[in-house]
Amino acid sequence: MAVMLGLFLGVVIAALFIVSDGKLVLLWEVRCPDCGEVVLRERELDCRNVWCPRCEKTVGISVDTIYPLFNISLEYKEHVNRNRFRRLVFSSVQNNRRDGPVSDPR
Ligand SMILES: [Zn+2]
Repeated sequence: MAVMLGLFLGVVIAALFIVSDGKLVLLWEVRCPDCGEVVLRERELDCRNVWCPRCEKTVGISVDTIYPLFNISLEYKEHVNRNRFRRLVFSSVQNNRRDGPVSDPR
């Protein structure tokens, strides 16, 4: 149990460092304790209660209903997509040079 808790804390601390780099975004997710429905997902929580549309009741925000969620930032997704395209083009050029000219079978 202590090993699992240490591993979990290590992952969370590593994720928080990646958040500081701008690659991940920390979101807070509030779930209804009765039905599990996600009733709120925000970067910052500035309210104490939210409404669960499924149960049609107010859900209080507490340690029992709030969950951290790490999401890849939009800027980092765009950065990876731009560089992946460059890598594919570069890799294709490298492979063509490595294979040499194609010989004519005739
Ligand atoms: Zn509910």
